[in-house]
Amino acid sequence: MPGAAAVLLAAGSGRRLSAGRPKALVPVGGRPLVHWSAALFASLPLFEEIVLVVPNGPEGSEVARAAGLGLRAAVVPGGARRRDSVRAGLAAVRRAEFVLVHDTARPLATAALVGRVLEAARGTGAAVPGIAVADALVRGVSGLVADEVSRDELFGVQTPQGFACEILRAAHEQAPHDWDAADDGALVRALGRPVALVAGEAENIKVTFPDDVARAEAILAARAAAPERRGEREAMTPRVGIGWDVHPLVAGRPFRLAGIEISAEFGPEGHSDGDPLAHAVADALLGAAALGDIGQLFPDTDPRCAGLPGSDLLRRTVLHLAEHGYRPAQVDAVLVVDAPKIAPHREAIGRALAEALGLPEDGVSVKGKRTEGLGGLAGGRGVACHAVATVTRSA
Ligand code: MG
Repeated sequence: MPGAAAVLLAAGSGRRLSAGRPKALVPVGGRPLVHWSAALFASLPLFEEIVLVVPNGPEGSEVARAAGLGLRAAVVPGGARRRDSVRAGLAAVRRAEFVLVHDTARPLATAALVGRVLEAARGTGAAVPGIAVADALVRGVSGLVADEVSRDELFGVQTPQGFACEILRAAHEQAPHDWDAADDGALVRALGRPVALVAGEAENIKVTFPDDVARAEAILAARAAAPERRGEREAMTPRVGIGWDVHPLVAGRPFRLAGIEISAEFGPEGHSDGDPLAHAVADALLGAAALGDIGQLFPDTDPRCAGLPGSDLLRRTVLHLAEHGYRPAQVDAVLVVDAPKIAPHREAIGRALAEALGLPEDGVSVKGKRTEGLGGLAGGRGVACHAVATVTRSA
């Protein structure tokens, strides 16, 4: 299962902000507006592809620099309407099966919201976050209240919105070309497909008018102060988790570690791809954050987990951690197996593990250990992995 893609829209002119420069460059909390959304998606390794849609013109490269994504993002020029910009971004998505489309004018979206939208999109094919309307609503005609409107079934729609790429592509191709749809959820509904409504976030505001900048900065300041409110001790104490996994080795199964395939006579049996390194490391990470174990997150009764590659399981674990305010800091693992030899593949496995976790290469360590002629694990027909991980608060 390939990872997901994010299309980040940063092509807006910012006319209503009267800032005299593209909206994405307007400073919010000491950073360009576009920086906040770019940093959120870049911190989630599940997003293997990020496409940044910038203003079509000389300011485009300035917006791309301000996002700070470097080679992590493909940069494409946007179109005249929002819809054209999304379509341009979608065309640059290469491999992903699912895509999240996000307006970078919403700098305060959280990993928890991203996780909810992606999960619902995987289930329904399309999902948008919505916020129940708090104010009483009326229809106004010529300066007079014409009638009251019930707010019971009304929601304000936000981004990120999530879709199966195939469905969003079809929606863009088939909708009438002159329809300037408000958002992608509307295009998918016009296709006759269901769109799931998930809980949005009150703080996920859209920066449209000059006052919105001050509101966004107040929320950012409150979030920055939050770790102190929880107590510096909690914020500073490293959290450590332990994980262990074991699989029988059978003929005819590939031997994969953190997604890297090693040539071997026998491979680990399992409902997923049986990657003992990925399983032990994911359990250590979940343990460090006290978030249960992989059996709860990826039940072997869930057909969607059948054959789940270890690298994808790790990326989804990191997203789950991020939803709860943690990120991996460091991992150490020992594989106990008599054959194949681990040493020749250590670097490749370490690199793959670091990439899946969004860590630098020196953030992970992988070692192989044989059983020194003691008969081997299950007489040589088994592989086990021990892992220790630390996590930190991601705020
Ligand atoms: Mg396992």
